[in-house]
Amino acid sequence: MATSLDTARADTSFFGHPRGLATLFFTEMWERFSYYGMRAILILYMSDKIAKGGLGFSDEKSGAVYGLYASMVYLLCLGGGWVADRITGQRRAVLIGGVLIAAGEFSLVVPGEGFFYLGLVLLMLGTGMLKGNVSTIVGQLYAQGDPRRDSGFSIFYMGINTGALISPLICGYVGERIGWRLGFGVAGIGMLLGLIQYVLGSKHLGTAGLHPPSTGDAERDRRQKRNAAWAVGSGLGIFALLAVLGTVGIIPFTATILSDGQGWFLLAISTVVFAWLIFGGGWSPEERKRSVAILVLFVASALFWASFEQAGSSLNFFADRNTNRHVFGFEFPASWYQFVQPIFVVALAPVFAWLWLALNRKRLEPPSPAKFSLGLVFAGSAFAILVPAAMIAAHGVQVSLWWLVGTYFLQTIGELSLSPVGLSAMTKLAPERAAGFMMGIWFLSTSIGNWLAGEAASVYSSMPLPTLFGSVAAFTIGAALVLALLIKPTVRMMSGVK
Ligand code: GLN
Repeated sequence: MATSLDTARADTSFFGHPRGLATLFFTEMWERFSYYGMRAILILYMSDKIAKGGLGFSDEKSGAVYGLYASMVYLLCLGGGWVADRITGQRRAVLIGGVLIAAGEFSLVVPGEGFFYLGLVLLMLGTGMLKGNVSTIVGQLYAQGDPRRDSGFSIFYMGINTGALISPLICGYVGERIGWRLGFGVAGIGMLLGLIQYVLGSKHLGTAGLHPPSTGDAERDRRQKRNAAWAVGSGLGIFALLAVLGTVGIIPFTATILSDGQGWFLLAISTVVFAWLIFGGGWSPEERKRSVAILVLFVASALFWASFEQAGSSLNFFADRNTNRHVFGFEFPASWYQFVQPIFVVALAPVFAWLWLALNRKRLEPPSPAKFSLGLVFAGSAFAILVPAAMIAAHGVQVSLWWLVGTYFLQTIGELSLSPVGLSAMTKLAPERAAGFMMGIWFLSTSIGNWLAGEAASVYSSMPLPTLFGSVAAFTIGAALVLALLIKPTVRMMSGVK
């Protein structure tokens, strides 16, 4: 029997939290298992020779497809949230998302470029439907003012990283050592397990996320739903038409053209969103100022993820081609490196939680823009330490495996200074009427970062490595310094929000 929302919220059987949190923890754990397991081998599979079971793409094309895919995944979280709000409710959106993801992974198992691209599209749509919405249901498990909310999200973040740390070991091993496409199959099985668990455990969620929020007028609800369904149907129809025209060669799409288009689209959409938030009608002067502060954090966040998300792109190439991965006579698969970031997150997250609290007690806790600037310094330093490694690699030597471990360690310190802080700053700075939308803006910055990470991989073989890594380091540290100068004015714009 399903419980009511109040009963679900009052429950304390999962480490003092509602039992429903466990259902969502494992759903997101398996979804991230699937996402990161697949991502760990994606670029290696694309760029591997056809004779070895890969797709035989150039680095340029592999980077373009990678950036397009990873940035669409996060961009579509915006659409997924909207579909849940208007049509399906979050609960059904998560279910649909999980089914699409599993179907996408299994499509990648089938040989042929057609199934490869179909699989990527299903994965983008599925993750867009699942990722943001599962977090929204987490939020609904806590009543307004429930003090367990923040720690509930911290537990949830552990779920994300548990999935992210196990999957590269399994999918990476199977993919690199047995067969690329089987690795995607394992990722799909993970998502299926997550789905079974979600369906069986959803009785603990009460009515959280079960229906789209009502406007209070049944006729208006129905109209909104119908219009939204038409919009989604037309969007998918236009997309399918373009895909067919591209496949038969009527419109000459290439991965690079599409990826360039995506870059311009991301720039355009960000400009429109912030123009509306800052200059649009209906905002109070205070809300406008806060939107300027959000813009500063948004740019910093996009640049941070551009460095961080290269774990799956250019740094994956570096692990594969330029790093000596022999330990006690065993050469571990390059994709195993993807285990390093999440394990550091799990180990260091409690340290950071403690650190901010301790500094707060002494009234020394830095404001969010300062933490963002710190995050960028670490992300930039992570690439700066790779410059000497890249110089060694330029002589054809495979470098020690510790260089990348050091890089991932610095990146994780950066992530913990920026990512959780950013999420909560966005929710606090958002105008009340646009809170859900603001979460989408956060994902938009991640989307831009992922696109840039793909661009970096696409020049991997055409630009000298020390120049590539050095430029990322210089640019990111430069941005950190500019942000450091902007800390005071940004804090002023935040009008009282810490
Ligand atoms: N590692 C986190 C996740 O997968 C954050 C990723 C991001 O926002 N780029 O959810």
